[in-house]
Amino acid sequence: MEADKLTQMYPMLSVEEALERVLSGLSPLPEERVPLLEALGRVLSRDAVAPHDIPPHANSAMDGYAVRAADTAGAGPVRLRLVGEVAAGGLPEREVGPGEAVRIMTGAPLPPGADAVVRFEWAELAGEWVLIFRAVPPGHDVRPAGEDVRAGEVVIPAGTRLRPQEIGMLATLGETEVWVRRRPRVGILATGDELVEPGDPLPPGKIRNANSYTNFAQVKKSGGIPVPLGVARDWEEEVAARLRAGVEQGVDLLLVSGGVSVGDFDLVKRVLAAQGRMDFWRVRMKPGKPLAFGWLSLSGREVPVLGMPGNPVSAMVSFELFARPAILALQGARDLSLPTVPAIFTDRVKRKDDRRHFLRVRLSQEGGELVARLTGEQGSGILSSLVKADGLAVIPENWSHVEPGARVEVIPLWP
Ligand code: AMP
Ligand code: MG
Repeated sequence: MEADKLTQMYPMLSVEEALERVLSGLSPLPEERVPLLEALGRVLSRDAVAPHDIPPHANSAMDGYAVRAADTAGAGPVRLRLVGEVAAGGLPEREVGPGEAVRIMTGAPLPPGADAVVRFEWAELAGEWVLIFRAVPPGHDVRPAGEDVRAGEVVIPAGTRLRPQEIGMLATLGETEVWVRRRPRVGILATGDELVEPGDPLPPGKIRNANSYTNFAQVKKSGGIPVPLGVARDWEEEVAARLRAGVEQGVDLLLVSGGVSVGDFDLVKRVLAAQGRMDFWRVRMKPGKPLAFGWLSLSGREVPVLGMPGNPVSAMVSFELFARPAILALQGARDLSLPTVPAIFTDRVKRKDDRRHFLRVRLSQEGGELVARLTGEQGSGILSSLVKADGLAVIPENWSHVEPGARVEVIPLWP
């Protein structure tokens, strides 16, 4: 098809419009139950609710003496009778009466009668007496029951992607297994007659397949299960056959790299037109403009297909902007946004278009400010400047140029 006809058929979308179209057709996958220790990075599908107060009982925040605060008034020092001891995990054997103290360890339950703790540093042991050198108010160095979480409280809402701290909280709630959404299976296909795999000889005229490997790692990082579909030659039948193989393996999303720029566009478009439907092509961004999205219909199923440009930087950036949120949405995640941090841009960049630019930068602290410095050439085939980068500076569509000192948002590319 002629290029100008194609550009008429498929108006260029903003990043937001394109993302909205990708996400609007996706719904969360079914739930499954997994052991707590395998839940890192998974998305919780049911609210985690506290079955009891946390901590369950008032306990000491310090090693010291459990006392009645009123008894310490006018400490200069005051003398209290030592009547017992309670260790973490132990139970107080008796009440603390007026004029009495109980030796207590951090985390041990506060004995009845006591309402404060005097830390060791503020007291001195003298036989069966304790000399208290400081007056303390009621509640001093005491962690009340429910201080952290109240019984019945939603501690982690459904849709949260679990990090180490959530795993610890779920353990605190007593969970050994948790409800999460199934991991999406994501087919990864590279296209191009020029591609050879690492490990194979590199004949003249060929280059190595990078995208399948970048995308594989990105799928894992996003919580999906990568399903490699190999490399298709630039030939419609082979692209179709490999995508079909992916659908037969039960993939929930198909990623194709290459074969979507003007010259190649027919490859992915023709496959989708013949066996599904195209939704959009081209997004107002750089790199990654020729992004294509559509649905492959096969055996009564419709599988979303994201066609990313073949240039390695375009493929990786397109993934971050569109495939990552799609994979998170399939897992039922509430937050699909890419977090950004504000930084000061140090370079001068002129632009000739009205696309949103994603520039490879290195972040550093300079003079108390976070600074974003270009890592080198920004061509979409220059993977080395992405390797040097730990962020993508977002340059809005309506900026004609960027001057040193400009405030930009940076999408961190952290491990
Ligand atoms: P395409 O989008 O197919 O026109 O490819 C654009 C550029 O990206 C060409 O220079 C391709 O050789 C290169 N390219 C395409 N696919 C890959 C890949 N999987 N790994 C590395 N480079 C690629
Ligand atoms: Mg190609």
